[in-house]
Amino acid sequence: MTQTDKAIDRTKLLPSDPSQQWVCTACSFNMIGFYPKRCRFCGATPEHFTTALDCSATRQVEAVQVSDRISQLKSAPPFDFEHAAYRIDTGNGIVWIDCPSTFDSQMTPMEYILFTHYDCLGASNLYRQEFRTQVWIHQRDAVHPNSRRFSFDRTFEADFELLGIEAVVMGGHTPGFTLYFFEDTLFLCDYVERVDSEFIWNPYGNRVKTPLVGQAVARLLSDRPTPPKTVCGVDYVEDYESWKVKFDRLMMQT
Ligand SMILES: [Zn+2]
Repeated sequence: MTQTDKAIDRTKLLPSDPSQQWVCTACSFNMIGFYPKRCRFCGATPEHFTTALDCSATRQVEAVQVSDRISQLKSAPPFDFEHAAYRIDTGNGIVWIDCPSTFDSQMTPMEYILFTHYDCLGASNLYRQEFRTQVWIHQRDAVHPNSRRFSFDRTFEADFELLGIEAVVMGGHTPGFTLYFFEDTLFLCDYVERVDSEFIWNPYGNRVKTPLVGQAVARLLSDRPTPPKTVCGVDYVEDYESWKVKFDRLMMQT
């Protein structure tokens, strides 16, 4: 950690009430403590909203094994859209990368939730409250309007390592976009998205910076002494070699 990292005083954070938290069933975004006219993520109207309380009563979180230590987490029954989150059993504690939109009290408690960016905050405030989880995000994503009313225990500004997980700050799609490595797996969330089995740069962020930073991602990957074997993305898990072929094709068009 660097001197610019900020630990946040937990006593200043308000308690979360799942009856006062709304989940957009169109895009699964959680809105804490207020009932907006439109979903702040996808713009859906309020007939698409349900409370986090109802969401927990009608949905659970399903874990699908990716490898010995990693599983993918998603709500079941599924939302029309949800960023997949991932659970890593580091051997020294459980860490989630991003957070499912459904709060499921039956999940094995996790020590940390580390975010790639502000689009996939899910029900992290409720997990944090239930399990006293430490929630970390990049400082520049913490101050974005999508992060409003979410609670973070630490905001970082530089790369770090935690329980064998390597965090690399990239920016691009969002100002504080952070990717993660654990052993031979890369966690990249939605930096690239699949359309007709090809990749496109995520169109919802900064359209200039996303491909530029994408080149830095490519360099980072080629500079690693051993390339990853698996990529965990926003709605897919893919072996690195086939992922890289498509990623390289996207780079060529950029
Ligand atoms: Zn995103």
